[in-house]
Amino acid sequence: CKSKVCNPPEASSGLQVTPEIVAGCQELILTDEQIQTYMTTFLDNIQRGLKKETHPTAIVKCFPTYVQDLPDGTESGKFLALDLGGSNFRVLLIELDGGNCQMQSKIFVISQDLMVGPGTSLFDFIAQCLAEFSIEHGVAAETLPLGFTFSFPVMQKGLTVGILERWTKGFSCDGVVGNDVAQMLKDAIARRGDVNIDVCAVLNDTTGTLMSCAWKNRNTRIGLIVGTGTNGCYVEKQSEAELFDEPDMGSGNVIINLEWGAFGDDGALDFCRVKYDVDIDKRTINPGKQLHEKMISGMYMGELVRLAAERFTKEGYMFEGKGSEKLFTPDSFETKFVSEIESDPPGTYVNIKKICDGLDLINATEQDFVNLRFLCECISKRAAHLVSAGLIVLMRKIGEKKVAVGIDGTVYKYHPHFHNLMVEKIKQLIEPDYEFELILSEDGSGRGAALVAAVAARVKSKPT
Ligand code: BGC
Ligand code: MG
Repeated sequence: CKSKVCNPPEASSGLQVTPEIVAGCQELILTDEQIQTYMTTFLDNIQRGLKKETHPTAIVKCFPTYVQDLPDGTESGKFLALDLGGSNFRVLLIELDGGNCQMQSKIFVISQDLMVGPGTSLFDFIAQCLAEFSIEHGVAAETLPLGFTFSFPVMQKGLTVGILERWTKGFSCDGVVGNDVAQMLKDAIARRGDVNIDVCAVLNDTTGTLMSCAWKNRNTRIGLIVGTGTNGCYVEKQSEAELFDEPDMGSGNVIINLEWGAFGDDGALDFCRVKYDVDIDKRTINPGKQLHEKMISGMYMGELVRLAAERFTKEGYMFEGKGSEKLFTPDSFETKFVSEIESDPPGTYVNIKKICDGLDLINATEQDFVNLRFLCECISKRAAHLVSAGLIVLMRKIGEKKVAVGIDGTVYKYHPHFHNLMVEKIKQLIEPDYEFELILSEDGSGRGAALVAAVAARVKSKPT
């Protein structure tokens, strides 16, 4: 109807968050002092990870990736890539040609059974997907270079050798921890015998993201993922990376895969963890591990909100003190709901109403909506602030006054305010002479993997 079209969007009802809920959520707001503690401790953890002597007991592992060079835009060639460890498993075919990049890819679903079954079954499945894809794209007869984006904590012994240290993000396949994942891939391919590949790099998704961003932006020094899991990598001087044991091919640098998801596994974050964090951790298949990741990433964010909503419902402040069976069921509140709810323009309740209906909270009032949205905001803001504090530590450590950060992952990509929350927090805390840019860097696992392979080939052929 016409009058509706002309009316401004539904005016804000002026409803305030229930004071008891505001008070109960104070613990989720990181004070400047807490952020300082976080930054000091994190830097100390990085230093321990980098040093030979302290590395074995370090929590933040700081693995050298053996990637010494950033792309310069002239890379070319045809590559395959595998991407395991995000919200999807993908096989990709990438063609790089002097600043152009063409990509074809296919998503395959990794079943829950495969995620926790024998490692050989997982690698057989990966090889099968690769074979199917190669045949479909007419490249099965070629021996293409392949970059294996394997987004788990891997101790690299070279660019093509990666020993899995531990599984994360709900994976737990027997017989892989302690083994070289590139070799397991090659073995699985050999068991089939119908495709040939040349595995020329094992890489982390953060590395791929950094490389993919650096391809167009020469100031890129940091790669960041805020998706199913979270992690960062950065360009470090070889002289600081004591575990790095290959000759300098000219840059003097090497990318370090921090594996910052594990930060706090020794209790270092207990000063800012809350009961929801403790409860979530207990129910995971890796209790006591990846505690930083569990405060931040998409695998846990929705459940953090649900636990808060459950608490305030049981205390009588939300949903008539009754809630619903669904609201009290673990994992019923998906992380994408957080993004959807915070995407409702202030004072409007379109997405949130649908989500509440879906959770059988059919009598939810506007007051409930205001409160639930506030819980989402507290949880996502805390995540954004933690990640920002981590980035500041890296920017200062790198010391360059103009830095670009390549970022990927479902939370960063789809949450409507995550980017702005980060920019705001970093600006507030970093010295004013630093200039930084946070850049969405998609396709790190495809283009980034190809670039790692291409740059490695370039380095190899350079006279020493
Ligand atoms: C893994 C990292 C990865 C991150 C983002 C974490 O669980 O340990 O290797 O980079 O998730 O995918
Ligand atoms: Mg990914």
